[in-house]
Amino acid sequence: MKVLISWVILALPLPLMAQVTAIRAGAVVDPRTGTAKPNQVILVKDKKIQAVGAGIAIPENAQVIDLSHEWLSPGLMDAHSHLTLAETGGDGPFESFYLSESTALRAMRGLHNGEILLHAGFTTVRDVGNSAEYAMVDVSRAIEQGWFIGPTIIDAGRIIAPFGGQSRLIPSGQGNFWKYEYIDADNPEEVRKAVRVNIYHGAKVIKLVGDNNPYHYSVEEIRAAVDEAHRAGIPVAIHVIFGGEAADNAIEAGVDSLEHGFYLTDVQLKKMAAKGITLVSTDFPRSVLDVMGTSSGMLPEPAVLAPLIIDRLRRAHQAGVHLVFGSDVPIDIPGKTRAEVMLEYLDGWVAAGISPPEILRAMTSDAAKLLRVDKDRGVIAEGLAADLIATPGDPTKDIMTLRKVDFVMKDGRVVRNAHGP
Ligand SMILES: [Zn+2]
Repeated sequence: MKVLISWVILALPLPLMAQVTAIRAGAVVDPRTGTAKPNQVILVKDKKIQAVGAGIAIPENAQVIDLSHEWLSPGLMDAHSHLTLAETGGDGPFESFYLSESTALRAMRGLHNGEILLHAGFTTVRDVGNSAEYAMVDVSRAIEQGWFIGPTIIDAGRIIAPFGGQSRLIPSGQGNFWKYEYIDADNPEEVRKAVRVNIYHGAKVIKLVGDNNPYHYSVEEIRAAVDEAHRAGIPVAIHVIFGGEAADNAIEAGVDSLEHGFYLTDVQLKKMAAKGITLVSTDFPRSVLDVMGTSSGMLPEPAVLAPLIIDRLRRAHQAGVHLVFGSDVPIDIPGKTRAEVMLEYLDGWVAAGISPPEILRAMTSDAAKLLRVDKDRGVIAEGLAADLIATPGDPTKDIMTLRKVDFVMKDGRVVRNAHGP
């Protein structure tokens, strides 16, 4: 009889066996206020946070996870990733990565990197293009089906750019081979069409290239993208490295976020702050710049660029620009996982004089707003998805504790727990 009962219990579907998970938390961090409440209980049911607070009764049949010496924070977010991309680096042509790998291989790299990021605590990432022919849409679907573990993915589909994508000086006889990564769109109507094509294929953010070639998008062209995307309820991110008129046009047209912006002036930063345009600052550490090199002449030498990036981040912070964390790691660095490299960016934020609570906010609740997932994710609150991380220290005091994430829950499922069975 005993054997039979055990068999029956084992045969029950998993949600019926463990309906509620209760986490005893040493403290729960609220990134919106930069504070931590001690001795909390988090109840998780059906992928969501059912209750959080002190003195909450733990149901008798609940699975209990003891993290009573840990700080619980919402899962981290990265607003500028390229999980399927591994640039060749050095002096190799920028285009070589998309000429030498199929969409299938790129998708497998995306799954691999997604799993690594999730284990490190990144539960949501915005992947802003360079994923061949919509590889990240399929990666996202495979994760949502439960075939693989990985973060929630907000995908841009193909990058929309003026003629040539991010290639340059390719002999015309080679054809427009960049079409696997980019959509050429060279007037407002073509931009509108490109936005619709991406949304049709599953994009949840529109990514434009603002200043890769001597020609760049006009206010009218960017406005067409913003209008079309916003009517579908999705935001527009624009790549602008060098600032100048390309950045002026993007700010004037009212994009949601400007990506990189290494040469933005104080005047441009003030305008961004006034218009509520987010800077996703992608502050490359030297470890990345040294391997990436000049990206085939697209970037200045690392020794020139590194201090300039931090200075721009400091000025943006002082100007009151809304900042959201984005790493843009486009390359593999020997001996380090992509997540380890992403967390090296914290050094730059600290060097720019940004406080731990502000950095945490840029990686959680503020990122969720930019990604338009804040109704579901970004804080630890009743009714939101159970995307949780635990650290041995308080991230509102010591942001580097995010490098020691030792527990990760994604949509209510424990994917890593260094403290438990
Ligand atoms: Zn990028």
